[in-house]
Amino acid sequence: MSARGAAFQGHLTLPLHTSHISLLPVASTKVAVSTTCAHSAQPLNRPKRQQVVIVGGGAAGHLAAITCARNCSASVLILESGPSVLQKVCDFFENEQVPLKVEPSGKVFPTSDDSATVIRALVDAARRAGVVTEIRARVRALSRWEDSYYVDLVDGRRFMADYAVLATGSARTAHVWAQNLGHKVVETVPSLFTFGVRDERLNGLAGVSVRDCEVRIVPNPKPKRPVPGLVQRGSLLITHWGLSGPAILSLSAFGARVMYDCVYRIACIVDWVPDLALDEKLKVLKESRRILGQKRVLNIHPFRGNLPQRLWKALAGAVPGIDSSLKWANLNNAMIQALAEQLHKCRFHVSSKGQFKEEFVTAGGVDLSEINMKTFESKRSPGLYFAGETLDVDGKTGGYNLTFAWASGYIAGLSIASRVEV
Ligand SMILES: Cc1cc2nc3c(=O)[nH]c(=O)nc-3n(C[C@H](O)[C@H](O)[C@H](O)COP(=O)(O)OP(=O)(O)OC[C@H]3O[C@@H](n4cnc5c(N)ncnc54)[C@H](O)[C@@H]3O)c2cc1C
Repeated sequence: MSARGAAFQGHLTLPLHTSHISLLPVASTKVAVSTTCAHSAQPLNRPKRQQVVIVGGGAAGHLAAITCARNCSASVLILESGPSVLQKVCDFFENEQVPLKVEPSGKVFPTSDDSATVIRALVDAARRAGVVTEIRARVRALSRWEDSYYVDLVDGRRFMADYAVLATGSARTAHVWAQNLGHKVVETVPSLFTFGVRDERLNGLAGVSVRDCEVRIVPNPKPKRPVPGLVQRGSLLITHWGLSGPAILSLSAFGARVMYDCVYRIACIVDWVPDLALDEKLKVLKESRRILGQKRVLNIHPFRGNLPQRLWKALAGAVPGIDSSLKWANLNNAMIQALAEQLHKCRFHVSSKGQFKEEFVTAGGVDLSEINMKTFESKRSPGLYFAGETLDVDGKTGGYNLTFAWASGYIAGLSIASRVEV
């Protein structure tokens, strides 16, 4: 028996106030972990199974739990503070018989178009593997004593574990526990959010999307060092409160920290026709003046492949001198220049980070330098694992965050299973 297993079976001397906890010394050599939980139900006449407690019932916590329970004899418990598990999961999980379809955009969805299919599959997989899940079980503190972890709930119960996994997403409290166990935490800031923009040119355009734009952000004040990724190309969606879509969400990921530092006061510069340089746009506009002559400028334009008519009308209508009666033949060179610039470097002032505080991800978290990235075990505190968003990992839009949550949970679960004694 390892030191870890021996500690679990031995006499328990807790550095605690015991009045509020339900961890009961059962006999001089045995300990029952919280008699109120199925996790603790262990016959006293045979060796106790090793205990794994996973804090957080999201994507990372579930993958850690399922993988661990499927691959070893340990008793695995998920503690989830919310009223249900996997609230954030809106993606898919093919291996658990969730039929998938690939849409023309290349994105993959459950054929049911319902994320509940995925959640059901995961919850069933956990149950079949023998994982015990407790909802409305908010953890208040996690601490270590000798080779064991102690998990205190706000309702006063306490669980003891040989291995603990922190899969608490962006929860700040869990970062404090990690700090108490010797970890550095990189300051967390919101990531993957939309831009709040109030601009007359966007009025009435909510729902209009542009397939391909190049979008640049310029923080104010400018960052001292160059920040990579502040230019992104992709589709853009105009919303009731500003700008969204993959290009904007990617910018919010790369620019998460600089935008946070300047309180989301940035300029956002859009090239609506990114395949053409400024002089090429000028050329096309001048050619259109010749060809479209007697047609009205706001009614027809040469960039129809990429630019919706309603957006063209708003952009062209913002150029001084262009109104609904002006014909292409009557555009002067100054107007053509202004129009080309409106298309090439259309400037918006971002005033806030979306609306309704709706960021999807948190950048920052437990510093990776103190994590063994092959196992996701702490280098500071053996037997403690981290998975998912609680770590200082964040990705741009496209499923990368969820993928990291699945992958890190899986690896942590497998690593624990490989260490549990049979
Ligand atoms: C609206 C929305 C859309 C998203 N879309 C995408 C997308 O398209 N692609 C993508 O890659 N990512 C997306 N994300 C992000 C993705 O969902 C997360 O990165 C991923 O779910 C993180 O998984 P996790 O298990 O690490 O954390 P979470 O899913 O946040 O799970 C952590 C769990 O821990 C629980 N918890 C926290 N503190 C405690 C405590 N003290 N005690 C007990 N339990 C606790 C929480 O209640 C939560 O259930 C989206 C997120 C949101 C909110």
